[in-house]
Amino acid sequence: MSSLLRARHLSVPLKLRRLNTIGRPFATLAEEGQYAPGTKLHGYTVKDIKKIPEFEMLAVHLQHDKTNAEHLHIAKDDKNNVFSIAFKTNPPDASGVPHILEHTTLCGSEKYQVRDPFFKMLNRSLANFMNAMTASDYTFYPFATTNQIDYSNLRDVYLDATLHPLLRKTDFTQEGWRLEHEDPKDPSTHLTFKGVVYNEMKGQMSDSSYLYYIKFQESIYPSLNNSGGDPAKITDLTYEQLRNFHAVNYHPSNAKVFTYGNFSLEEHLKHLNERFSAFAPIHNNKDVKYPIELKESKEVVLKGPVDLLTDPNRQYKTSLTWYLGPTNDSYLGLCLRILTSLLTDGHSSLLYQALIESDLGTEYSSNSGLSSGSPVNIFSVGLQGVSESNVSVVHDTIHDKIRQAYNEGFEISRVEAFLHQAELYRKNKVANFGLNLLYGIVPGWFNQVAPLDILEWDSLISRFREDLKKPRFLESILEKYFLGKPTFAFTMIPSEDYGQNLLADEEARLNAKINSLTEADKKNVYETGLELLQKQEEKEDLSSLPTLRDKDIPLETDRTELEHNLQSDVPVQWRITPTNGLTYVRGLISLQDLPQNLHPYLPLFAEALTNLGTETESMASLEDQIKKSTGGISAGIQVNSLPSDIESWNLGLTMSGFSLNKDVSELLRLLSVLLLQTNFHNYEKLRTLIRGMSSGAANVIAESGHIYALGVASSSVTASAHLSETLSGMEQVKFIAQLDAYDDASLPLISQKLAEIASYAFTRSVLKLAVTCGTEVVQSNEIAISNFINGLPNPVLERTLGAKNGAELTAFTSKVADKTFYNLPFQVNYAGVCSRGVAYDHKDGAALQVLANLLTNKYLHSEIREKGGAYGGGASYNATSGIFSFYSYRDPNPRNTFATIDGVGEWAVQHNITDRDLVESKLSIFQGIDAPTSVQSEGMIYFLQGIDDDARQVRRQQLLNVGISDVKDAASKYLVATAHQRNTALLGVPDESVSESNGWRIAEAGVFGSTVDQTGVQIPFEG
Ligand SMILES: [Zn+2]
Repeated sequence: MSSLLRARHLSVPLKLRRLNTIGRPFATLAEEGQYAPGTKLHGYTVKDIKKIPEFEMLAVHLQHDKTNAEHLHIAKDDKNNVFSIAFKTNPPDASGVPHILEHTTLCGSEKYQVRDPFFKMLNRSLANFMNAMTASDYTFYPFATTNQIDYSNLRDVYLDATLHPLLRKTDFTQEGWRLEHEDPKDPSTHLTFKGVVYNEMKGQMSDSSYLYYIKFQESIYPSLNNSGGDPAKITDLTYEQLRNFHAVNYHPSNAKVFTYGNFSLEEHLKHLNERFSAFAPIHNNKDVKYPIELKESKEVVLKGPVDLLTDPNRQYKTSLTWYLGPTNDSYLGLCLRILTSLLTDGHSSLLYQALIESDLGTEYSSNSGLSSGSPVNIFSVGLQGVSESNVSVVHDTIHDKIRQAYNEGFEISRVEAFLHQAELYRKNKVANFGLNLLYGIVPGWFNQVAPLDILEWDSLISRFREDLKKPRFLESILEKYFLGKPTFAFTMIPSEDYGQNLLADEEARLNAKINSLTEADKKNVYETGLELLQKQEEKEDLSSLPTLRDKDIPLETDRTELEHNLQSDVPVQWRITPTNGLTYVRGLISLQDLPQNLHPYLPLFAEALTNLGTETESMASLEDQIKKSTGGISAGIQVNSLPSDIESWNLGLTMSGFSLNKDVSELLRLLSVLLLQTNFHNYEKLRTLIRGMSSGAANVIAESGHIYALGVASSSVTASAHLSETLSGMEQVKFIAQLDAYDDASLPLISQKLAEIASYAFTRSVLKLAVTCGTEVVQSNEIAISNFINGLPNPVLERTLGAKNGAELTAFTSKVADKTFYNLPFQVNYAGVCSRGVAYDHKDGAALQVLANLLTNKYLHSEIREKGGAYGGGASYNATSGIFSFYSYRDPNPRNTFATIDGVGEWAVQHNITDRDLVESKLSIFQGIDAPTSVQSEGMIYFLQGIDDDARQVRRQQLLNVGISDVKDAASKYLVATAHQRNTALLGVPDESVSESNGWRIAEAGVFGSTVDQTGVQIPFEG
């Protein structure tokens, strides 16, 4: 929450492959002796080394002799290897120069003279993660892959991109900002600001939570400016400033390289040394920035936008901030993490109860939490959704509760629960462990924290346990850093004309720029616009880029051995594998027979199970028990099409949790308490829950608007997609906002609906279970599972999983050429266009998947992003829902996008598709299919969607076999022939081309004031 990264949105899903757990644990530790401090290795000197037995890791910290580049290597027997190169990039102003540099370094380098090598490499690699991110004072470029050739290919591309980028003027104008005619080919059209980062940051400014966070950051940390860029300042940046910023900062002397996994350290060093030795050392930028001094309390109040999906009377956001000592003291860091978590996390914490349950605000403010990414620990706590008169009440309450915590002290059992959580977190084997380590280390590493100190774990915990025996140990920390200490208060007040003012400012800025142009300048703008367009259309020679080949894709799918049996008549799936002493349990409860009018309530129902408590126990007490004995319990709604029929769907409730092997019975007891005893009539908690679900919606839409647009567009294609839209799309957003708008008298009615769902859900006959555990506990787990099942009510209704739901199917009629527009308070647009494909087991599915990938990479990316100026755009094909989709993300020009999509089928049929194009698409598809998976996800594709390893192998073979003619056939059959039938959705800014007379259905998302669209919403209290 408090570290801010701006990710390029590359979608490389993590799923579908298990980590190879049979290996050589601790083998890497044998190498320890080789790396004693002072050892010279390939131009590097070992500075420090640390064995971390609790994670079976060895960490080696080195420095490059010639340039002083730092290197941290973490050896672990994990094949998901990670590489990252990072540079300190303190922003000199708010022009976004670090962010624009991050983009432009990826526009071609000396060795690899191609635009956007990251995107190009996505098709030449099997990496499961590739990205570049700008944080507040550093920029880093990480990737993860299991393939050694791939690793060395990508490492070379990353190093060349960062150290030797071309940084051409056209790269700057394309990615940063430029003045250009709306239609670059037509000089009579208006001049306007364009640029990828410019539009990306305009999009960010639509997100009021982001805006609160960034304005807070600018106020408390003015020395760091805004690394992402304030659109109003981006247009001040010059090309020369960008080049200079690169020369000073992107240099080995200013670099920190991180490597993780089971590849050899020496090979890494040898390669890096070759690269780095070409550089003469320069001054290392150790300039660490500090936040403003707080000798006495300060307060800053700024204006912000009105959140149209939130109560107009509760639009204030406010927080208090404390400085809690230096971050280079890792032990203090641990104590503060525990202390601040006890104060704010969960139902039993004083601040949660006093701020959120009390209804002073809807949820914590976006800056809330402990931030240790700068030289000072910064702790903030605050609220959004506050009324004007309650701002000072919020401040007083925070102070009072901290004083109360100090006076009353903390219960040891809650501290123990925290330590237990930490222990389970350590044991839980996740697929992206190396990346998580990287994210944890980099911020401190750039702020004078020794990287090996950040990896301390067991020794810190032991020291903490010792200190905890001292009377009032935690309370003394509270006293030292909180009581009577100065605070920084930050409040954002709503301003009706905030958005209009931004637009007016932009207009004024634009006019000032235009007025300063001479005739010669104007001619130049026109010509450089054409030049950029021409560059974008140039066919590129990609042969310089390294690549994997199709033979590098394994022919066989990784198989997950599963066993199945019945426990007290309930089907149980067993995944028996080494799990570090943990057991994972997941239940799937079929809701196939649930009446349709209850569907919209399902997300609320799932949340209610872990938020309301029972008749006899408060949620605070239950949550403490959950934290003490489990790694957490969660509930969710699962909907999917059948692998053999996209018209039919499965709908279910999932409940999952994990625990140490010894605590499985307790985990199951808690699961059944939540399932059977939740008190849906706890109106106060229900009110809090609904408000919380409703309040974040606008920001989630701003963040993932293309997903919502696709949800709307697909909802009229199949019954399954329609149900998904009800459960997680704009329909759900409207539904929850509407529940939130009703007064308290509605709560008993809502409770009644939830109780009704419970009567369908909680019987044995609709349940199946999945258990993942080690072989040593199978027997004891079987007994625990049996006891759990025997405690559930006996079957009342016979229901079968996967049956067609006749009632729903007759209620749903698919539509074609349907167009829906949602007017949302954003400055940019999100578009979605959807049509029908085939079921998972249909032979055309593989060709459709390759086609979608090919369209994105060979056509749509350049048309929608590079030429159209949208932040992202492309096509995707969902193999299980059978929906073919086109989308754009933060799109300033959706008309261009729609026109491009209109012609997409013809393009595919006529374009000269090569074998190389096919290989690229397949590599990129298999990145997702073969990405390592966490132990708890193994076997879940089968459990949740009914797709087994044989079906996956058939699909794999089909994908590998797809030929050029298959792709062309799929394009003409599924895109050309049905081009006029696609359904379209647009979220964003009104435009004259979007009107009812043009066939658009205009929908409103707001529920306050006069803009309620009752017709589109399931009316909650019918019948
Ligand atoms: Zn960006």
